[in-house]
Amino acid sequence: MSNVLIIGEIDGTEIKNISQQVAAVAAGMGEVTGLVMGSGISEAGMKLAAGKIIMADDSSLENYDPVKYASIASHVAKENDIQTILLGATSMGKDLGPRVAAELNCGYLGDCLEASSEGFVRPNFAGKVLAKSKPSGTVVATIRNNAYPAGEAWSGSVENYSGSITDSTLNTTDVENVGSGTVELTEAAIVVSGGRGLENAENYDSMIRPLAESMGAAAGASRAIVDAGWVSHSHQVGQTGKTVAPELYLAIGISGAIQHLGGMSGSKCIAAINKDPDAPIFKVADYGIVGDLFEILPILKSKF
Ligand SMILES: Cc1cc2nc3c(=O)[nH]c(=O)nc-3n(C[C@H](O)[C@H](O)[C@H](O)COP(=O)(O)OP(=O)(O)OC[C@H]3O[C@@H](n4cnc5c(N)ncnc54)[C@H](O)[C@@H]3O)c2cc1C
Repeated sequence: MSNVLIIGEIDGTEIKNISQQVAAVAAGMGEVTGLVMGSGISEAGMKLAAGKIIMADDSSLENYDPVKYASIASHVAKENDIQTILLGATSMGKDLGPRVAAELNCGYLGDCLEASSEGFVRPNFAGKVLAKSKPSGTVVATIRNNAYPAGEAWSGSVENYSGSITDSTLNTTDVENVGSGTVELTEAAIVVSGGRGLENAENYDSMIRPLAESMGAAAGASRAIVDAGWVSHSHQVGQTGKTVAPELYLAIGISGAIQHLGGMSGSKCIAAINKDPDAPIFKVADYGIVGDLFEILPILKSKF
């Protein structure tokens, strides 16, 4: 059993679900210490499912600052004799994880599907290969969203971070919440994604967005339609977009290129609508409808 540090992320007054999933993984790996960083986070931070929670609560930590956050995390890891540091494979986790590993001069495993004292499993080559790793020393790893159920919060001990906060030359001047009013793609239980088969941006707006909304789902997209300017990059699923692993992934008018599959093939259930019976998406789909999306989507929408 090793000493495990989990770095929790806060969303408003709650701990992000992905952080509770990481906490659940960590609980099976050893003695768990949780670290939360931010400003005015004491109420939310206490909900992290860790027996001991260290809170770095300071106005200078209000927005994610890679220099400050990495230095605090590595300081806490050294002080607590940590061997394994786990984070969610979120935008912050993917940025912070390698930085903490660099500060600790240790290894980094990104976007893991499995983590235990026996080792880690992570996808390579856009999910074509699953690599198993058993690090011999300290390691930092990010865990893919929805790979594990979330841990339950319990009342552990809480300590304030007592180390110094390093200076940073970075200064956040503005924060734009691009996902405002919608379900966050990487946290969603259902993702409804559209591709070039929709023909134009208006059809994405009038068919995919309302269907997603009525299903309580997040709206995703292939890169083809992001590049075409129909939707913003924040919706893109795939190798150069977001990685999702929802309970249900609905692919509509998406061919299923390897780079798209790399971002969604870990979904628990995949359903696809495509008029081409040979479309590669059907190779990974649990359910497939071969047909014209313009005929099928109105029927589907009428059910929700
Ligand atoms: C380095 C690199 C990185 C990449 N990263 C990503 C990434 O992150 N995410 C990503 O998605 N792609 C990525 N791509 C692009 C990828 O290779 C594909 O070009 C892209 O995924 C195709 O998008 P699409 O499926 O929407 O379009 P298409 O491949 O054009 O497929 C459209 C599909 O719609 C179907 N269709 C058409 N009309 C209808 C209809 N009326 N009813 C039903 N079905 C219909 C067609 O049969 C077809 O299968 C990347 C490429 C490279 C080189």
